[in-house]
Parts: sequence; C-alpha cells; structure tokens
Amino acid sequence: MFVLDPLPYEFKALEPHIDTQTMEIHHDKHHAAYVNNLNKAIEAHPELGGKTVTELLTHLDTEVPEDIRTAVRNHGGGHYNHSLFWQLLTPGGAASPEGKLSEMIDKTFGGYTEFKDKFTKEATGLFGSGWVFLSADSDGEGLHIQAMANQDSPLSHGHKPVLGIDVWEHAYYLKYQNKRADYIAAWWSAVNWTEAMKNFEAGGFNI
Ligand code: MN
Repeated sequence: MFVLDPLPYEFKALEPHIDTQTMEIHHDKHHAAYVNNLNKAIEAHPELGGKTVTELLTHLDTEVPEDIRTAVRNHGGGHYNHSLFWQLLTPGGAASPEGKLSEMIDKTFGGYTEFKDKFTKEATGLFGSGWVFLSADSDGEGLHIQAMANQDSPLSHGHKPVLGIDVWEHAYYLKYQNKRADYIAAWWSAVNWTEAMKNFEAGGFNI
C-alpha cells in the first residue's frame, strides 16, 4: 500500500513563486490520484506489495506484469516524480551545488550557468506534458539532462534522478497560465540543492 506523505512545508510556503492554491490542488488532488491509482493497479498483483515504487520503476519492463505495466508507469511514475518534486523545493531555495555534484556539473555542462541554461531550455521547450530531470548514470559517474513525456521516470531508462521539474500545466496554470518560462524561472528560486546533493550522493532518490 503506497501512501501520500504530507508536504514537508505548508502549502503557502513557496509563495509568491508557487502559489498556495496550485500547491493544494497539485498535492491533494493530482498526487493523491497517482497514489490511489497505483494502489488500485497493484491490487491485481499482491506479490508486488512489498516492492518500493523505486524498485517497480527501475525494473518496469522485467518485473512488472504486462497487464499493469502502463498503470505503474503512469501512476507509479506520478507518485515517484511528485515525491521528488516536493522534496526539492524549499522557501527561498537552499544552497547551490557543491562538492562532487558541482564538479560533475562543471565537467559535463561546462559550468553551473551553462547547466541551468540547458535545463531551462529543455523544460521550456518540452512539448505537451512531462518532466525534465537532472539524472546520474546508474554508477553515479555521468550526469544527463533528460526530458520525459507524461510521468515516465529516468529510473526506467537506467538513470537515477537528482533533480526534476514538473512542466505539466497543472503545475503552473493557475498562476502563470501559458507563461511556462516564468514558472520555470520561479521554480529555480525555490530549488533545494541540499536535497539534490543528497540524492546525488545516495545514488538517486529512493522511496
Ligand atoms: Mn504534477
């Protein structure tokens, strides 16, 4: 049985960057629906009951039966991605990349500014609903910016998410309407790099 954890801060905590009503609906309705639908899908396969969502998504094509694979991809992905997303935000943002993550960003993208520009460009340009992630290789030695459609997870493609932005319209439409670029700029100012570094050092975000 998968459970929706409360946010690690108040709904209003990310104002004015991300508004209270968006946070309430996004967490209590959208994320809750992913959790409920994942639980419904798993009911058909009680043998999967002991698996974590990280395990299910990592081994989606080999260990999740075909009749529920799409449901786990969509709703398990939705549960995982949103849990990551909440954890990576904090009022006013926190820290900036340091240590090994900073070194890897410099080595891979040519610097933090270049990384941020590339990530922003991917998030701005992603067509339709999806996510953009900063992910590590499974050995933790390479970094990638990955655009994913719908609720697909880098875990199902051999990567470990470190940071991710939700660019579904439900993440920003109430406040920003069609102005996705403004939402992305606001999101950057609330990123919790302390948590991103933990994800990187732990070999990914695991729930
Ligand atoms: Mn969302």
